[in-house]
Amino acid sequence: MQSSQRHERDSLIIGRFQPFHNGHLEVIRKISEASDNLTIGIGSAQNSHTVNNPFTAGERYRMISNTLKDSDISNAYIVPMEDLNRYSIWVSHVVSMSPPFKVVYSNNTLTRRLFIEAGYEVKDSPLYNRSEYSGTEVRRRMLFGEDWRSLIPRAVADVIEDIDGIGRIRGLSDDV
Ligand code: ATP
Ligand code: MG
Repeated sequence: MQSSQRHERDSLIIGRFQPFHNGHLEVIRKISEASDNLTIGIGSAQNSHTVNNPFTAGERYRMISNTLKDSDISNAYIVPMEDLNRYSIWVSHVVSMSPPFKVVYSNNTLTRRLFIEAGYEVKDSPLYNRSEYSGTEVRRRMLFGEDWRSLIPRAVADVIEDIDGIGRIRGLSDDV
């Protein structure tokens, strides 16, 4: 294979995965099929223990890793990525943390703009059942005691139970 063709089918997707849900799994399944290797970046890795970002990077890593194993997805790397408050060098920061990639899947306007300016191929990723499959909706249901388990993979629910994620979210929401 010529070196210019190397990594042409290697791709990147970034999310906060607070928590990882069925929409994330569906899109990653699709991207994994279209890629040789796929990097899943855990964004805002430094954040945890807030109502909107309850889980640590390590907990999110476990959720994703166990789900990939259950789903027979074997070509994905998981890389935690901390925020940088300097967008002009954010792409270099991501590249420095990630295995090689040429294609970026994102619907986020800023992410798309930054990678396009840096010369990457940027593709839309399809949204699945977005009214239910969203991190915000999963966290809302956890807080109000509604059915959150049906929105996430079994392995993610197991991690949340293991770390008493519901107790954590409800405890955090008590502060005013
Ligand atoms: P939050 O509501 O906390 O922002 P989220 O569901 O938007 O959570 P993020 O952790 O922000 O998920 O991850 C964003 C990435 O996941 C984006 O690339 C987005 O396109 C993708 N994504 C989110 N929900 C879905 C879905 N239902 N189907 C496909 N992709 C999704
Ligand atoms: Mg989001």
